[in-house]
Amino acid sequence: MLNITCGESNVACLANETVLDALLKANIPIPYGCRQGVCQSCLMRSLDVTPPVAAQIGIKDTLQKQNYFLACCCHPEQDMTVSLPDQQDTWFEASVIQKQQLSPEIIRLTLQYNAELSFFAGQFVNLQRLDGLTRSYSIANSSRHEKILEFHIRRLPNGQFSSWAHDELQPGTTLTLTEARGSCHYLPGRAQQPLLLIGTGSGLAPLYGIIHDALAQGHAGSIHLYHGSRNSEGLYLIDEMQELAKQYANFNYTASVSGACATETGFAQGRAHELALNAVQSLKGWRVYLCGHPEMVNQSKRMAYIKGASLGDIYADAFLTLPH
Ligand SMILES: Cc1cc2nc3c(=O)[nH]c(=O)nc-3n(C[C@H](O)[C@H](O)[C@H](O)COP(=O)(O)OP(=O)(O)OC[C@H]3O[C@@H](n4cnc5c(N)ncnc54)[C@H](O)[C@@H]3O)c2cc1C
Repeated sequence: MLNITCGESNVACLANETVLDALLKANIPIPYGCRQGVCQSCLMRSLDVTPPVAAQIGIKDTLQKQNYFLACCCHPEQDMTVSLPDQQDTWFEASVIQKQQLSPEIIRLTLQYNAELSFFAGQFVNLQRLDGLTRSYSIANSSRHEKILEFHIRRLPNGQFSSWAHDELQPGTTLTLTEARGSCHYLPGRAQQPLLLIGTGSGLAPLYGIIHDALAQGHAGSIHLYHGSRNSEGLYLIDEMQELAKQYANFNYTASVSGACATETGFAQGRAHELALNAVQSLKGWRVYLCGHPEMVNQSKRMAYIKGASLGDIYADAFLTLPH
């Protein structure tokens, strides 16, 4: 058993516990989200020892050097003295200015902020409710839109944040959010490179932003978007995507449904990633974006790599949820 010191508190950390487990068990209010090392909500700093390597995976080099680590991935190897990062540096306020139903399952939430926030469409932020409940959501709009952030939030049955956002959150409410994170965004500089984008459900959010950024920046290579869901209720912005495909000769759009009883017309039948990856012979030289259901993202990553995409050209955000 090791000892974790956080402010005035000394907490015992058992062999199978993370620093996050130990601090929460002692009722120390630590922000957290995915508990799987992705959302980085539980970023903390070690004030004495170097944190275990596994607890620093995915965080910026500059922060690693300052002994920042993710509490949810930190199985301490020795006693540690830890603190939360200076929250004023990393949290911003934003007000909900619009809420729009995009499909029976998905809302578009538009927030306005006043702070200096830099981001690329497709990155994600952690949104926090007044009581501290925090979840990650991908940014669907380009930073060219003045001081606005757009999110697409899918309702999960009994999901704490998503059900609240759908049922109770109203325009005028203030939320706090972190700076934008992640590398899932458009990269200018290789304008001829073909792009393959695969998303399920609200996984369209980052892809929608990436596509608009790519087209606005004159991307000349072909762009292929596959958006899938079990049934048509999880699909949205269909007309807008079809219009975009008419407007830009290099943009191709396929919406698909995969449920056993998926008889809806107008959609391709099957799983988006299987349809997408079967349609190309080779992904050598392509850039691939994968967003949404974690299983789809993991399978597609492997399949895209086998089809020739280089690992450095595969950008993925798995929409991990908390296991209950
Ligand atoms: C990097 C990143 C980006 C993300 N971006 C977005 C985004 O743009 N839009 C978006 O909607 N979400 C996004 N998410 C997911 C989001 O962070 C939340 O996890 C999600 O909204 C659920 O939160 P909740 O509080 O409503 O659910 P919770 O209260 O956390 O409950 C989730 C519960 O639902 C269960 N569950 C998981 N999937 C399903 C399912 N398909 N059907 C039924 N139950 C299920 C889980 O096992 C868990 O028990 C993202 C996640 C990450 C890590």
